[in-house]
Amino acid sequence: MRQAFRSSILHCLSDPGEASSASAIEYFEDGLLVVEDGEVLEVGHADDLLSEIPEDTEVTEHPGGLIVPGLIDCHVHFPQLDIIASYGEQLLDWLNRYAYPAEARFSDPDYAREVANVFVDEMLANGTTTALVFGTVHPHSADAIFEAAAARDMRLIAGKVLMDCNCPVELQDDAAGGVAQSRALIERWHGKGRLGYAITPRFALTSTPGQLEAAGQLASEYPDVWIHTHLAENREEVDEIAQRYPERSSYLDVYEHFGLLRERAVFAHCLHMNDGDRSSMAARGGAAAFCPTSNLFLGSGLFDLAAMRAAGVRCGLGTDVGGGTSMSLLKTASEAYKVLHLQEHALPATRALYLATLGAAEALYLDDCIGNFLPGKEADFVVLDASGSSLTARRIAAADTVDEKLFALITLGDDRNVSATYVRGKQQLSN
Ligand SMILES: [Zn+2]
Repeated sequence: MRQAFRSSILHCLSDPGEASSASAIEYFEDGLLVVEDGEVLEVGHADDLLSEIPEDTEVTEHPGGLIVPGLIDCHVHFPQLDIIASYGEQLLDWLNRYAYPAEARFSDPDYAREVANVFVDEMLANGTTTALVFGTVHPHSADAIFEAAAARDMRLIAGKVLMDCNCPVELQDDAAGGVAQSRALIERWHGKGRLGYAITPRFALTSTPGQLEAAGQLASEYPDVWIHTHLAENREEVDEIAQRYPERSSYLDVYEHFGLLRERAVFAHCLHMNDGDRSSMAARGGAAAFCPTSNLFLGSGLFDLAAMRAAGVRCGLGTDVGGGTSMSLLKTASEAYKVLHLQEHALPATRALYLATLGAAEALYLDDCIGNFLPGKEADFVVLDASGSSLTARRIAAADTVDEKLFALITLGDDRNVSATYVRGKQQLSN
């Protein structure tokens, strides 16, 4: 089936922070996105393409909208949806006080399914079409999020948490059992439709060396499976790692030692790192999830995007709900701007878009199928619309350029400014 979507259209071809923006982005004021059987056929000026496409092509118009690629969340915990905005702690206390009790409720598979469905609908309402998602230690938490994503045909990567120490006993697995459960989930879900599996040790403080070793061994057996964990989020955490592993040169080196640093390994936060860590992460093909709302909310620190990109590390944005405070990648990008501003750097709007689309797809090694509108890619896209909120509409009306409009949309926008979300050319949501 051939369809076409007419609106303003913007997408990234590379990182606008590195190339001249003339070649890094493509913008069509009156654009047309042509989709066939859920894949992008072509994108361009409506005037040029409307005369070329077959007459029976269904054309959907979104006047006043801005079509961008589906947003990609590189790090989020679906079981923490109900504890978003919980007050007043830093990481290690926050886990004990809020996150672990919330995750313990996932021993109930029905509850897990209910939250998974609410979570993916909340993603779609915010224009997020792909995410890398933490479950809980319970294998059925991964089943629940995969089932919810598959029902909506979404491209999604998830995994059950591996955690065998330093946490409540009801949330512990063990090295052999956790890996056996992960292996069964890989066999059940990885590569099924648009789904992928991530081996998910929570972080190096909640796994024994034996479990990290077993996770690395499993990863070596499945080179196209993802690895998803946290790295260098909080100073107290980093100090505890240094005490536990005095023989390792850094926190990242602990993961590398156990075979958990490689392509398709995604590390949330990466705040307290040195240039040597950044170089090894880049050299091994690991990626960083930049989670500004969480880093500010938990008082963790400031992500150094300039140093990460200078080292060649793949980077994408993550909401990190529930430590993060919004499911919206627009809001997340707005906080990213402020985090960089505190470090005397800037974040142009097009680069923020890159971090939530093509950059995130590169971080997840999914840029062959999502992230922009090159022909053959899967047609996941979002219609942003300033009219969803009156102040945003007023501000955008006064904007002259697409950069100015996008920056105002990012700074003021949220789910009210997502008027439609399409997954493989099919509208999933109309706000
Ligand atoms: Zn997290």
